[in-house]
Amino acid sequence: MTITDLRPTSEIIERRARYRAFMEEHVYPNELALGREDVEADALIAGLRAHAREQGLWAPHLPPEAGGSSGSFLTYAHLNEEIGRSVWAQLVFGCQAPDAGNGEILWHFGTDEQKERWLKPLVAGEVRSFFSMTEPEVSGSDPTTLQTQAVRDGEEWVIDGHKWFSSGAEGASFGIVMAVTDPEADPHRRASQIIVPADTSGVEIVRATPTMGHRGRGWTTHCEVRYTGVRVPVENTLGDVGDGFRIAQKRLGPGRIHHVMRWLGQMQRAFELMCSYALERESFGGPLAEKQTVQNWVADSAAEIQACRLMTLDAAQKIDQGDEARVEVSLIKFFAARVLHDVIDRAVQVHGARGLTDETPLAGMLAMARGARIYDGPDEVHRMVVARRILKSFAAGEPWRFE
Ligand SMILES: Cc1cc2nc3c(=O)[nH]c(=O)nc-3n(C[C@H](O)[C@H](O)[C@H](O)COP(=O)(O)OP(=O)(O)OC[C@H]3O[C@@H](n4cnc5c(N)ncnc54)[C@H](O)[C@@H]3O)c2cc1C
Repeated sequence: MTITDLRPTSEIIERRARYRAFMEEHVYPNELALGREDVEADALIAGLRAHAREQGLWAPHLPPEAGGSSGSFLTYAHLNEEIGRSVWAQLVFGCQAPDAGNGEILWHFGTDEQKERWLKPLVAGEVRSFFSMTEPEVSGSDPTTLQTQAVRDGEEWVIDGHKWFSSGAEGASFGIVMAVTDPEADPHRRASQIIVPADTSGVEIVRATPTMGHRGRGWTTHCEVRYTGVRVPVENTLGDVGDGFRIAQKRLGPGRIHHVMRWLGQMQRAFELMCSYALERESFGGPLAEKQTVQNWVADSAAEIQACRLMTLDAAQKIDQGDEARVEVSLIKFFAARVLHDVIDRAVQVHGARGLTDETPLAGMLAMARGARIYDGPDEVHRMVVARRILKSFAAGEPWRFE
């Protein structure tokens, strides 16, 4: 593999240009209205989604046979350099977290009946879903300690437990719930993933937990959810009983790289705003662009963004080739989360007080960026995964090769 292999083909360049045109015409001008998260914003989103679908820009994370328009990770990475630039765009193009990750596992592990009942309306954008794994009482970094249980009673599971940070659960039609189905099994065979319709008796959305001062609405909520005697048929199990961790790995790997792809768009947008403003704003007799500190921020940001791009494209290509790319995905997850934060933070600083206002998207981007170092595994856990795997390879007499 060479760096040239990671460059976009002419077909990707053409597709990317179509996303850019759509973003410029329909998404950026509506960002403030969408950010109000009210009934008008809902109507606006619905209209934009219909328009995106008509233009063949719908669900670029899934292959056409699953109802999407792409399916290659490398292509999706390139497209996200446009889509990722606005938090709302993922919703507009039908590739929003956590539905994108849920769609992928339903596509890979769902039975024909599950695909028909849950995947089809999800990909069509008719319903939303949530992924319910993290619990307030135990460390989300170590999900072998999960306490939510599903006990089999005849042909039903009876689920009892307490979750939080089930993103988007408010207004969703169903959740994929990670629950212990065999407490005696090997730690990584204890849990299963079970599809739970949100209107099942015993499912209670306790609250949308405000984060960084933002309660959210619908898709943007992070919900605390209680499951009390929740009964669902055993055929709602994804994969085999005990496959929960195997499927979570399958979900979280791509889910993580999807996040990083979106961050590439966020970083580049912040970088462009920083450079433009540095050239325009004058202080102490000249533009900010002439101050060395600002120049250092521009240079450091350019180097770091390009490193993130190449690492992401490399990991995406390896996944396309059938590799799980565990090290590459963990590397980019913690590295890019830090770069994302730093680039946006520098851009805010260059804008001075204006950087904290709604006159630019930077303040909202900065607030969202903080979570990146925690969700889908905190930085420290990804560093641990990377170091353990590399050292294991050395211990086995196989030096780690940078390929
Ligand atoms: C915006 C957002 C959205 C989310 N959406 C979802 C969702 O949709 N569904 C879902 O199930 N969960 C979701 N989560 C939860 C997320 O996956 C967990 O927060 C994450 O896995 C960490 O778990 P925790 O919060 O329990 O932290 P803990 O596991 O308690 O860890 C706390 C801190 O301890 C440190 N730490 C942990 N382990 C180690 C280690 N081995 N070495 C060194 N330090 C360590 C880290 O600094 C970590 O931040 C979301 C979180 C956020 C912030």
